[in-house]
Amino acid sequence: MTDIWLEQANAYINYVPEVDKPRPSLDGVLANSPEGTLLVIKHLMRNHLDSPAELIDYAAEADLAELAALAYELIIGDPMRYNSLASGFMHKIQQQSPSAAYPYVELLFGKSYASIYDHVFWRDPAHIPFLKSILTDPNRADFERRLALEYLFQSHDIPTMKEATAIARTLPALAGGAQGDNADAIEQLVRYCCMRAGLELLANDEFRRLTSDTVYHLAFEVPYLRTISYSGYKNTRYLNHPTWFRNEVDVIHAPFGGVTNTTCACCSRPLHRLLTLDPVPPGLVVTSRRRLELVTCNTCVIWTNEQLYFVYDEQGHATSYGDKRFIELEYQNKPYLPTSVRLVKTPERWRYQDYSHETRENICRLGGFPTRDQNPEYPACIQCGKTMSFLLQLPYNLPLSNGDDNMWGDSNTDYYFWCDDCAISTMVGESR
Ligand SMILES: [Zn+2]
Ligand SMILES: [Zn+2]
Repeated sequence: MTDIWLEQANAYINYVPEVDKPRPSLDGVLANSPEGTLLVIKHLMRNHLDSPAELIDYAAEADLAELAALAYELIIGDPMRYNSLASGFMHKIQQQSPSAAYPYVELLFGKSYASIYDHVFWRDPAHIPFLKSILTDPNRADFERRLALEYLFQSHDIPTMKEATAIARTLPALAGGAQGDNADAIEQLVRYCCMRAGLELLANDEFRRLTSDTVYHLAFEVPYLRTISYSGYKNTRYLNHPTWFRNEVDVIHAPFGGVTNTTCACCSRPLHRLLTLDPVPPGLVVTSRRRLELVTCNTCVIWTNEQLYFVYDEQGHATSYGDKRFIELEYQNKPYLPTSVRLVKTPERWRYQDYSHETRENICRLGGFPTRDQNPEYPACIQCGKTMSFLLQLPYNLPLSNGDDNMWGDSNTDYYFWCDDCAISTMVGESR
């Protein structure tokens, strides 16, 4: 039997602009043929053609090691030309399969053309001995030892992070300048590394986790997404992205969107429901409630300057935290369009996703790490003052009940946080 998708992949590869047109579409190949996808990616990598690293997302997991080897070969063969490969393809492979990229990452450490490598490269705990040897080597440059410190925190291994913190405190010059007392700067650097690893460094030098290992993707159905005119939902490749888990059958169905029967203390209108978890699935940062109806007020988070908090009773029903304020608001934003969303337990490959890629993959995530871990910001609980844990994130491009998309404000993604002791939630918008 002829493989039509393999044929299509070859037609894409052999396309000659002067003769044929238009270029054959890749979408069917990516969705249906791992073999064809691999062919196309290797062709693009070797020929350095517009380097669409996100094609890696559609490759079979089993092919990532081969692609990592090719990326390394190309980087070493021509460092200047393949700088973007280093930051693109290798980055993607490492993020989705640390073991596939493992053999090459240490070889690239500290190389000038690898300096744009991100921390995510170092999430494989197998790198711990290598990074420790650099951190403790007085012959290494300060910047290399600082990188080793930062990368060690990406192991998310608590004994390793404690040891790295202790070593860093003996090396104050790592924080930047070599003069004077940089102990405060080291403490700041350590706290920053902790936050990027989803941890808080407490006064007693213990670490407190602000994230969960377990992640669920909110896998909305195509007809739901297409109720709005957002152009991404016309894009076949986006809708076929593996993070929508179209064929996954082992799912939890959860009510999403609409309003609740309690009112917002600011605008006195019904609170907007995000997601009802009944029961709260295991492995999340919520342990003090068996059931939870997470809420927000889409109006007040935009049109007031207040940080809004919501408190949940024993049954998981929310009310606004604090006194009624009766703020007069000219505008009113709609709740999310009600639906039943599929919650899919996220496989290891998609446990980490990049910052702000809401236009090419599904970043509706419950639990795990916020995709914003570049600039972590975890708010303090309004009641107890403790740093709140990350619970949920939603991008701006979901349908609202009036048929619009959520284009208000200047936020790309909303991040929801939870205090398990007080059963309080709050929201932090991106770039706000
Ligand atoms: Zn309100
Ligand atoms: Zn609290």
